[in-house]
Amino acid sequence: MLDILRRIVQDVSTAKDLNEALEVIVNGVQEVLKVDVCSVYQALPDHSELLLRATVGLNPECVDHTRLSYSEGLVGLVAERAEPVNIDDASQHPRYKYISEIGEETYHAFLGVPIIHQRKLQGVLVVQDRINEKFTEEHLTLLVTLAAQVAGAISHANATNGMNVTPKNQISSVDLNLPGVSGSPGVAVGTAAVMFQQSRLDSVPDRMPTLPEAEIELFENAVNEVKQELEDIKERLGDRLPPEERLLFDAYILMLSSDTIIDGTTKRIMQGNWAPGALRDTIKENVRVFEEMADPYLRERAVDLRDIGERILLRLQEVQEHRTGFPQRTILVGEEITATQLVEVPAEALAGVVSAKGTGSSHVAILARAMGIPTVMGVSDLPVERMEGREVIVDGYQGKIYLQPSDAIRKEYMRLFEEEQELSENLKDMADQDAITPDGVTIPVYVNGGLISDLAPSLESGADGVGLYRTEIPFMIRDRFPGEQEQQLLYRQILSAFSPRPVTLRTLDVGGDKALPYFQFEEDNPFLGWRGIRITLDHPEIFLTQLRAMMLGSEGLDNLNILLPMVGSVAEVDETFQLIDQAYEELSDDGFRLSYPRVGVMVEVPSAVYLVPQLARRVDFLSVGTNDLIQYLLAVDRNNARVADLYDMLHPSVLRALELIQKGAREAGKPVSICGEMAADPEAVILLLGMDYDSLSVSIAAIPRIKWVIRSIEHARARDLYLKAVEMEDPAEIRALLQKTLLDAGLGGLVRPGKS
Ligand code: PEP
Ligand code: MG
Repeated sequence: MLDILRRIVQDVSTAKDLNEALEVIVNGVQEVLKVDVCSVYQALPDHSELLLRATVGLNPECVDHTRLSYSEGLVGLVAERAEPVNIDDASQHPRYKYISEIGEETYHAFLGVPIIHQRKLQGVLVVQDRINEKFTEEHLTLLVTLAAQVAGAISHANATNGMNVTPKNQISSVDLNLPGVSGSPGVAVGTAAVMFQQSRLDSVPDRMPTLPEAEIELFENAVNEVKQELEDIKERLGDRLPPEERLLFDAYILMLSSDTIIDGTTKRIMQGNWAPGALRDTIKENVRVFEEMADPYLRERAVDLRDIGERILLRLQEVQEHRTGFPQRTILVGEEITATQLVEVPAEALAGVVSAKGTGSSHVAILARAMGIPTVMGVSDLPVERMEGREVIVDGYQGKIYLQPSDAIRKEYMRLFEEEQELSENLKDMADQDAITPDGVTIPVYVNGGLISDLAPSLESGADGVGLYRTEIPFMIRDRFPGEQEQQLLYRQILSAFSPRPVTLRTLDVGGDKALPYFQFEEDNPFLGWRGIRITLDHPEIFLTQLRAMMLGSEGLDNLNILLPMVGSVAEVDETFQLIDQAYEELSDDGFRLSYPRVGVMVEVPSAVYLVPQLARRVDFLSVGTNDLIQYLLAVDRNNARVADLYDMLHPSVLRALELIQKGAREAGKPVSICGEMAADPEAVILLLGMDYDSLSVSIAAIPRIKWVIRSIEHARARDLYLKAVEMEDPAEIRALLQKTLLDAGLGGLVRPGKS
C-alpha cells in the first residue's frame, strides 16, 4: 500500500500541470481502492465554490462545469467541516443534493476527505460505490494520508497552472500569493526577469522565440555537438572503458538521436517556446516516463536522460547571448538568485528580488537590504519557468509575492510604493540629524554591514558607527579562508573609514544557514548545531588569525569592538578571552603597540538571556541578535515560510526576554544594543526606546526611518507604552497600540502591511 501511495504522490509532484495531477489522483485511487467512482473537486480561489475537476465513474461532461457552494451537497459538507464525511447511503443524507446530469444515482456509499494545504482548503477528494455500506477505516485513512501528501503539490500545480502560457482550464488565479520569508523590507511592483543557472533545466524560464527556425537550428547544433563530444570521449578512452560504461555511452548517443528528444523539442519550439524552454519540457516529460517504470535499471535511466538534457542546455547557453536588456522596473526572479546576478541588473532598473531558494541570511538578501531593494526569499512554490515578463508584486515586509495581481491589489501596492518613495525623499536629510528624542535622550543608530561595497553608503548614511560587521560575508565570497594580512587590510579599511566612531566586528559566524563553500558539513539540525563561536573555539587556528587581524587592523585607531556570536555559556566567553589574551600578547611581543579591544557578546541564544549578569561581568558590552533570539525562543525557524506567521517580534515572550536582558545589563553597568532586524522595525523601536536600550544597529536603508522614529517619539511616552505593552498578552493588541502611536505622531507613513 505504501508503495502505491508513494507512486501516486511522486506522479502528482512531477505532473506538468494541475489537470495531469488530478488525473493521476483519480485514476490511481480508483485502481488501488477498487471503487466505482473517484473524483476531485477543486476549491475556487475565492473559497466559496467547489468545481468538479477530474473524475472516473461520473459523467466526464460535468468536469469543469459542475459547481457546488460550501453549503451545498455532501462535497460542500466536507469543505465546510474540513473533515472527512463517510456515509453508507448518500441519497438518504439531509445534505444530499441531486444533480441530474452527473450520473451518481446508482452509487450509495460516499466518502469525501478535504485536501488542505497550510490551513487552506484546496479541494475535496471523493470516492463512491454501489454498495450500501460505509467505506472501511482503511479506505478512509488511505485517502486522508493521500490528501495530506498531495495537498502541497496541488497547491503548487495550481499556482503554476494559473501562470500557464496556454491555460487548459479557465480558472483565473488572480491575486495568487505565494509565501516566502522576508529578505529585505519594502514593496515593489514590476516585471519579472528570470535569471537561470548554467545547465540547470529546472531554472529555465519560458520565453517566446524570435525566430522558431533559427531556434531549431541552434538546438540541432547543440545536440550534434553533445553527440560528437560523447563519441570523442568514447573513442579516447577506447578499451580502457569498462564494458558497462561503454554501454552507457552507447545508450546516451542513442538517446540523442531518438525522436523523443528531437521531435518533442522541435514541436514545442514551433508551438512558441524558445529552445531551452522546449528542451526542458521534453526532458521532463520523458524523465517522468522512465521514473514510472517498475524495472529499477530502467528507472535509473531517468538520471541519464536529465544529464543529457543538461549537457544540451549548456551548449545552448554557450551560444545564446546573455540577457542584456532589463525591464524598466525589474523584479529579478530565479531558483537561487546570487549576489552577482543582482549586480548584473542596472541599479536604476532593479525594483525587487524573488528567489525560490535561500534565506534572510543569504548573501544576496544582505546585499539587497543594504541597497534597500525589497526582497522575498525561500518562495518554494515559485513557478520560475512561467514567470518571464509577468507582473509581480514583492512584499518584503510580509515576505510574500503576488502573481497576476488584480487591479485592486496592484493599486494598493502602487500606493504603498509611492508613499515609500516620497518618504525616502523626505527623510534624506536625516543623515545629518542626531538620533535624539524630543525630550533629549540620545540613542545612537549604528549600521549593520558586511560588504566592502556598502562602506561608502554606510558613511554617507549618517550612522553613528558600525554596530555589527558580519565578517562571515567576506569569508563566504572567497574560495578559501582569508589569511591574516588579507583580513587585516579589510578590517583596517572599515575601522579607519569610521574612526573615531566605534566599529563592532563580529567574529566568524558560520554554520546554521551560512555555509562557506570551502568548509562544508552536513547536520540534521544545523541551527542547533555547530555554529558561530562553537566552530571558532574548535578551530583556534582560524579564530586566532581573525583576532590578530582585527587587532592589527585597529592599530592606532582605538575604535575596535569585538563581538562574539552564539554565546550560550560563560565558559565560551572565558575560553575566548584566553585566545584574545594570547593574540594580544603575541602581537605585543612582536612590538605592536595596541590597545586591548573592547569585547562584547551577542545575546541570541535563550541560555544567554538567563546569564546576562554573569556574561556582563566579563565583557564590555552586549548586543541582542533578535533574529536568532526570536527563532530560538519561539521555536520557529527564521527561514521557514510555513511557520513565518508564528515568527513574531512582538510576542510577549520576546518582550519579556528583552526586558530581562536590558535590566541585567543595566545592573552590571554595561551598555546593551539591539542589532537584529527588530531594531529596524519602527513599531518595535518604540518599545526598545521605552525599555532603555542604549543603541540600535540597522541596515543602511533603514537608518533614516529609525532616526525619524527616535526624533519624533518622546522617551517618556515610549516608556509608558512599553509598560502598557508588557502587560498585554496578544501581539495583535500590542501592534495596534504601536501603530496608533505612529499615526498619532504623524508617522503614519511607517505603518506597513503585516500582521494585524
Ligand atoms: C541576529 O541573529 O539577530 C543577528 C544579528 O545575527 P545574524 O542575523 O547574522 O544571525
Ligand atoms: Mg545571529
